[in-house]
Amino acid sequence: MYVHFWGTRGSLPTPLKADQVREKIFRALCLSRSHTLTSDEAVRSFIDGRLSFAVKGTYGGNTACVEIGGQEAFVLCDAGTGLRDFGKALIRSGRGKGPAVFHLFLSHLHWDHLQGFPFFEPAYCGGNRIHIYGCHADLERAFVTQQSPPGFPIPLSALGAEIRFHTLEAGQTYAIAGLSVRPIFQSHPGGSYGFSFTSGAKKFVYSTDVEHGPEAQEADSPFIDFFRDADLLVFDAQYSLAEAIGPKETWGHSSNLLGVEMAVLAKAKRLCLFHNEPALDDEALDRFLGESRQYLKIHAPDSPLQIDLAYDGLRIDL
Ligand SMILES: [Zn+2]
Ligand SMILES: [Zn+2]
Repeated sequence: MYVHFWGTRGSLPTPLKADQVREKIFRALCLSRSHTLTSDEAVRSFIDGRLSFAVKGTYGGNTACVEIGGQEAFVLCDAGTGLRDFGKALIRSGRGKGPAVFHLFLSHLHWDHLQGFPFFEPAYCGGNRIHIYGCHADLERAFVTQQSPPGFPIPLSALGAEIRFHTLEAGQTYAIAGLSVRPIFQSHPGGSYGFSFTSGAKKFVYSTDVEHGPEAQEADSPFIDFFRDADLLVFDAQYSLAEAIGPKETWGHSSNLLGVEMAVLAKAKRLCLFHNEPALDDEALDRFLGESRQYLKIHAPDSPLQIDLAYDGLRIDL
């Protein structure tokens, strides 16, 4: 099993701007001053070895879409704008034009989790089958409405792929695409659902768009049980602790520090902070990750937990 992040930004797409690219180039050139970079190889090795991620790369701006790879069919969580890049990559590889089967799990129906679907090329290809799962009663209506006038010119019913909707119930366990899948209800405006996926000895938990209260850290919290021993936990860490318990309380998201505490309690092996705040640039996200790792050293110095911050294009093998 592997997890590939196609879209990691929260709330709305966040493209990189020209002045931000210019600043990255400026910083890279400043840092190169004392290095002799006379060959392409030397330049590449300088980029890889000497530049921070914020200078040499970007966390990306696509909204939520995460692929669970290595399965008998294509399995995805959420249909944010990252779904478009996933579809394009599949078409390029020759595997997206059908017949292919897709299983798409929706955490909830806010637009940052739906808006990539009208641009998902495999949905336009006859012979493909797309199963869409969610726990909201109006799951199908949300997809139909998104592709209705005046919002979009092509109705859902005109797409070439066969599309089926399936309503799941929190607390139940389902066998889908060779995975054992369990949804859990999460506190978020309109409600959202996290999903745990297990295959053999591997467990992946996708839990975004959730505001946890203090009870989440109690030993009998259903979330600690839900996250327990996860090989990878994707956690909504849109906010800092100060934001989460201050001005943005009740906005429906959690903090990086709470993610660290809950992952430690649940003995998760790896934590990936997710639903990145659109107001944070790459430098700020680098600092956010650094602070999260620093907090782990203070909070649980003996914990083997590994912490990452999701970026568009990140792949984690479980
Ligand atoms: Zn969201
Ligand atoms: Zn939401």
